[in-house]
Amino acid sequence: MPASAPGTPVDAARERAVVAAVPTGLLVGGSWRDADRGATLAVDDPSTGDVLTEVADASPADALDALDAVLAAQAGWAATAPRERGEVLRRAFEITTERAEDLALLMTLEMGKPLAESRGEVAYGAEFLRWFSEEAVRAYGRWSTSPDGATRLLTMKQPVGPCLAITPWNFPLAMATRKIGPALAAGCTMILKPAAQTPLSALAFADILREAGLPDGVLAVLPSSRAGALVEPLLADARLRKVTFTGSTPVGKRLVAQAADNLQRVSMELGGNAPFLVFSDADLEAAVEGAVLAKMRNIGEACTAANRFLVHESVAEEFARRLAEKLEAMPVGRGTEPSTKVGPLITRQARDGVHELVADAVAGGATVLTGGEALDVPGSFYSPTVLTGVRADARLQQEEIFGPVAPVMTFSEDAEAVSLANSTEYGLVSYLWTRDVSRALKTAEALQSGMVGLNQGVVSNPAAPFGGVKASGFGREGGAEGIEEYLDTKYVGIRL
Ligand code: NAP
Repeated sequence: MPASAPGTPVDAARERAVVAAVPTGLLVGGSWRDADRGATLAVDDPSTGDVLTEVADASPADALDALDAVLAAQAGWAATAPRERGEVLRRAFEITTERAEDLALLMTLEMGKPLAESRGEVAYGAEFLRWFSEEAVRAYGRWSTSPDGATRLLTMKQPVGPCLAITPWNFPLAMATRKIGPALAAGCTMILKPAAQTPLSALAFADILREAGLPDGVLAVLPSSRAGALVEPLLADARLRKVTFTGSTPVGKRLVAQAADNLQRVSMELGGNAPFLVFSDADLEAAVEGAVLAKMRNIGEACTAANRFLVHESVAEEFARRLAEKLEAMPVGRGTEPSTKVGPLITRQARDGVHELVADAVAGGATVLTGGEALDVPGSFYSPTVLTGVRADARLQQEEIFGPVAPVMTFSEDAEAVSLANSTEYGLVSYLWTRDVSRALKTAEALQSGMVGLNQGVVSNPAAPFGGVKASGFGREGGAEGIEEYLDTKYVGIRL
């Protein structure tokens, strides 16, 4: 369908057409079908609260059907030539890129983020398909001689087997492609359970994969309103060999415990509480620009969102003032409006949760430089907020804010900054701003996080290993490491 040019408002007919084009069934065994007993699940537009459409709502019985389907397809897909697997991904990359405008609008409608950000996510999500189309032919093994010279050691990489992927609502397409891409490249089949709030992007993408030539049964997609009940019988079945999860730390811990019984492999991309360190020698203008990106990308609803701004006392006041000016100037509104920079939060409950964190900080003595309130309009909007003077025991120092709120704290010594940065159970990403190379590298080494943004406010990159330490989980997505999560290593000892 004709896309609106970026910058023009989207009309209601186009919105309806984009939603109507999405398959609303369960994908099982290569075809779309109704859920057990015809159950459906409503998908809402968070900027209006209106229902966009209904999709099939999978039950545990549907999950077991999907498991049968991916099991049946596993051997054939593993035996498919790596080049052929890569070419399916490459075609999917091309179709996704061609349909970027429709996919972006769909994402904005179901999730709320501004259209420009949805376009960014479609491009980012598609890059995982291109990256892993190239990695499919590079699952190398090794040949070596044992140290005593007596035997030869042949090492080979083989697909782990059928996998389960569970994804969150905040990046409805990219979190799916970041898992489906490497799994398919490695020769694994997969069941995808997208978030109940945002199944449409995943369903649209699954249809693209079929069009790209993915054989029947290799991928199953099961939107469901009963995540726990759906997943339980899958993890209880030892024929499922892996679960890869992106979401909250409590759910991740539960999945690891469930996977323990059958010792299924696990990859866990969990929550974050990113520190954003600004040293006295930083380029302050660039640090403020980086802070806007690290905080406001995805309306602050990102695991990588800067949660705690730790700024040297000599520049803290100026940093906070400039950041407040930038955030105050960001228009809040429906994501389909071209001027919007800040969309709604995913639900009213999420918005109220963000406000509770702000109220707690203010009750502890914090000052609101800008924002600090929910907008009194339909939907679930929260005003971009900057707080200063936040006490160390405020809840938002330890909990993920998941909203457009920037608390600014101060430090005086480098060691204090690192200690404050590390004083959280999480360890996904840290940001640091300095022009001193030695300070930068020493600090990067000392920070307890899987990723560090050095003078940059975004770390996500398909060619880099994305992932965390501590309560942010384990496993890496993207980079040369990404495909390894879906490969087992087998060694053959050979006496010649
Ligand atoms: P969530 O509540 O943990 O949900 C994530 C997914 O898990 C959804 O598909 C959800 O289904 C499903 N789920 C919920 N309970 C489950 C259970 N008992 N068994 C199996 N699956 C279950 O997280 P969220 O609030 O949607 O997402 C935000 C979280 O994700 C944040 O903590 C954020 O930091 C994290 N995140 C991490 C990364 C990363 O790469 N590290 C990236 C993005 C987001 P329903 O939708 O039906 O609830």
